Amino acid sequence: MADLPPRCESRRLAGLFRQGASRAGRLAGAARVRFSRLFDHVPTDCPLCLGASRGGRPCPGCLADMRAFLPGRRCPVCALRLEHGPRCPDCAALGPAFDRVVAAFDYAPPLDQLIWQFKNASRFQHARFMAGLLADAARRATPPIEAITIVLPVPSSRRALRRRGFNPAGEIARQLASRLELAYRPGLLRRSGEGASQKQLGRAARTGPQAGRYTCGGRVDGAVVGVVDDVLTTGATLHAVAQALKRAGAARVVGLVVARTPYRQDS
Ligand SMILES: [Zn+2]
Ligand SMILES: [Zn+2]
Repeated sequence: MADLPPRCESRRLAGLFRQGASRAGRLAGAARVRFSRLFDHVPTDCPLCLGASRGGRPCPGCLADMRAFLPGRRCPVCALRLEHGPRCPDCAALGPAFDRVVAAFDYAPPLDQLIWQFKNASRFQHARFMAGLLADAARRATPPIEAITIVLPVPSSRRALRRRGFNPAGEIARQLASRLELAYRPGLLRRSGEGASQKQLGRAARTGPQAGRYTCGGRVDGAVVGVVDDVLTTGATLHAVAQALKRAGAARVVGLVVARTPYRQDS
């Protein structure tokens, strides 16, 4: 080995380094999976009622409360719970470009707390739990989510990324794609411009135009795209994303959201 010319020696060392790095990456990945499986059994407080639970998940009682929000007649397009008649007020206001939405739960107590903790209080472990809830909802969906679906998250604004240091939708999308064994293309969709924070807008203002805020970085001719977000309120963001994806050739766009905000006249 000592007789190798310097160039061969540096190539050999680079090869060894690459092998070492890839083995270290595999070991770190395996350790992460083992740790997270181990953590599933560790006694913890329920993040919602502070009762006894395990692995940082909500306790069985809080889970039952969440599931109580599942039944009910829903809009076949945007998954809004229809309580006041056959016509969906959000779809009537928006004329959505997306084809349908699969939501795990309504955005209501206690699940809204879980999303708040995940987005604003560094409770990153909730991503795994919420991706699990959404994966279960996707498996139950009728018609089923197609196996050719490409999964991607709604991109965060730069301001939100700076504040949180991560894109909540991205964390959920990555884990959802892995659970459902679907292709994950996080960089395909881009967001330009900051716009007003949706939080400060009423329901009517949120349905305002967001056209042009999102662009697709490549052609997706004939593709089925699953767009992941944590909360869907009026569908205006998903509508703008679906417009961009369909301009790039997408055949169908499905919203995959953890929580759907129920309609309130004053919201
Ligand atoms: Zn609880
Ligand atoms: Zn609707």
